[in-house]
Amino acid sequence: MTWDEFRNDWYPEHVACFTGIPAWMAKLEKASDGPATRDVMKRWYGVLRDVELDDAKRASHRMHAGEFDEPKGFDRHPAAIRKACGVSRRNAEANKPRYDADGNRTYACLLCLDDGLVRCWHPATVADAAKTGSVPFPAYSCVLRCTCNAGDQQPQIGQSPRFDSKQALPFSGCVSDRKEQQRLLDWIANREPIRPENFEPDFESQTMAF
Ligand SMILES: [Zn+2]
Repeated sequence: MTWDEFRNDWYPEHVACFTGIPAWMAKLEKASDGPATRDVMKRWYGVLRDVELDDAKRASHRMHAGEFDEPKGFDRHPAAIRKACGVSRRNAEANKPRYDADGNRTYACLLCLDDGLVRCWHPATVADAAKTGSVPFPAYSCVLRCTCNAGDQQPQIGQSPRFDSKQALPFSGCVSDRKEQQRLLDWIANREPIRPENFEPDFESQTMAF
């Protein structure tokens, strides 16, 4: 969950279940060398940031309902919630969103942003553009499996092609975007020639046109 989700959504929900928490936080802050509430909240968030918002809220309700033991001391609540969520989410470990300490979304793979798929120019469009020197109309894109862990977890249909930076050019936006088209033409002009033994005959048939 993001910091905003933690602060504005999960925390109020959790406090509605365990109503003594705000007074406990306030008491800590009032003590001469006690931690500020915001610092405590940041620590709590550090424990919970890898947990999905809905899972965390559900865990709070389950803890409140006595489905698992409330730990002694409020400062152990985040770990108990995380543990309650971890058990049910262990299988999704590799796919779950990551956040840094300030609650900004981060990615393990900047190529696919952790969804395992890389959108590229379609090989047929690349071949046309290479032949004629301009991007054909209509132009097509395709989706290739990324080379990262998330790509490994994408379902394999036949020999789903893997992204290879020598053979495919990722792009964002729209196939009719002039800047993207120019990037494609530049890439074609600068790429190394593809040797026939590297060419995969299944490549085109396995891709999806948009
Ligand atoms: Zn990736």
